Amino acid sequence: MNYSCQVSMIFNFIQTQFVLLKTNSGDDGVGVAIALTFMFVMLLILVKAFIDFRRDLAAEKGNAKFQDVPLRRIERILAGADEILRFRSPYYNRLSDFGKKRFLKRLRIIIAEKEFYGKDGLEITDDMIVLASSALVQLTFGLESYFLPRFYRIYIHPSIFFNKLLESNLRGSTSPSGVIRFSWRHLEHGFQDEDDGINLALHELAHALMISVESGDTDDGHLSDGLFMITELGRKYRNDIKAGRYESIRPYAASNDHEFFACCIEVFFENPERLKRDLPEVYEAFVWMLEQDPHNRLGDYAAPIQKREFSIKRKLRLKPDSHYNYVQTMLIAGFLLCWIPIIMINIHVETSPLPVALFAATLAVLGFILFFRKLVLSGYTDFNIFLLFLVIGWMSLTMGAGLTLNYFVPVYRMSELAPVSDYFITPEKKLRVLIDGEETRAITVGLEYRAILDRCKPHCEMTIYQHYGLFGIKVVDEIEVFESNEGSDQYQ
Ligand SMILES: [Zn+2]
Repeated sequence: MNYSCQVSMIFNFIQTQFVLLKTNSGDDGVGVAIALTFMFVMLLILVKAFIDFRRDLAAEKGNAKFQDVPLRRIERILAGADEILRFRSPYYNRLSDFGKKRFLKRLRIIIAEKEFYGKDGLEITDDMIVLASSALVQLTFGLESYFLPRFYRIYIHPSIFFNKLLESNLRGSTSPSGVIRFSWRHLEHGFQDEDDGINLALHELAHALMISVESGDTDDGHLSDGLFMITELGRKYRNDIKAGRYESIRPYAASNDHEFFACCIEVFFENPERLKRDLPEVYEAFVWMLEQDPHNRLGDYAAPIQKREFSIKRKLRLKPDSHYNYVQTMLIAGFLLCWIPIIMINIHVETSPLPVALFAATLAVLGFILFFRKLVLSGYTDFNIFLLFLVIGWMSLTMGAGLTLNYFVPVYRMSELAPVSDYFITPEKKLRVLIDGEETRAITVGLEYRAILDRCKPHCEMTIYQHYGLFGIKVVDEIEVFESNEGSDQYQ
């Protein structure tokens, strides 16, 4: 947003200079044009200032949040974390010394970033903060760094709590608004019994991960591909799971896509052997997505090294995923609507090819900045498909919309009276007229003007009614051709 604003500001600055330069010829409307363009530029500067202000504010708030949990307290919690986890977390226990160090480093970030609250009179302890945070470190241990920033508030209840919305008693809940709730009794129990395949903290955080990926909170295409794969597998095995065919997975997993994902993650970590035996495809998909293999207990759960690559076939398949949806929707829409920019370019280029080229270049740069990271660097598409998207999807739609707006929203109207010096029919059967106006140039007009031009030759004059549109690009509205009075006076 910030970048795009800067780019459009530069563009509009150039355009404003252009408009001012052109209107500096003493027309009545000069004042209006200057005022309008000035206001437009000011508005852009204001918008930019507002965006900067909000960004700074957010950054400040982030820092303040960091200090909310006093650093001393974080240090104290972390000093005891190793002992707490050795006692309570089998996952942590099996890590090498190096793995444990890495685990604690990530734990520190989570404790500093998230807010923890005791509910229903529960006084929050270091154990609670460490254990709840450790589940998130465990879940994302194989990933580069992903701490589910959307979910910043963690409420811990002493035991089962009542949810008014669902009108039922719950052990845990995850709300897309960013709040995760746990019953401490059940959270604690989840870590105590490792083999039962039930772990409340992992279950709720799995929901949080799925919501984050689905909502497009992360640019990581790998995560959404993994989620897509797992969701497909869940649908494939739903009936078997409902029928209780697999020992390792409880029938509750068949409720919906979200429960399948969350229930499988519990078994994935607590009982990898059994999940691998019952549903090997699902197990491998989780290893691939989370980039860790809980079965590899001697090697810090390292997964086989994988290349973050996506096949073209999968890339072009319609996916229930926001990234893919907009790439595809924009490609199709751009392809279907490409006649709009073609017509609009034709209308605009006649009077001002340079501003149109500038406009196109600005949009191309803007599209590149907005989507390159999201689509190419994240591994979503390769560069060729990105270029296709940029030209057919993005450029076609934004050029069409931009030039249409420019055409229909006039900022400054004017007319120009100029003598016609010559005219001819082009090989494409169009009438080109050379005029000696403010600048000597040729414009294309309808063939119907030929008869008039033939009649008044060589003393023809032309009035060109034009306007500057919203983006400062000039458009011809109407043309009148008539015999010049002066000319006829002189030559009579
Ligand atoms: Zn659930």
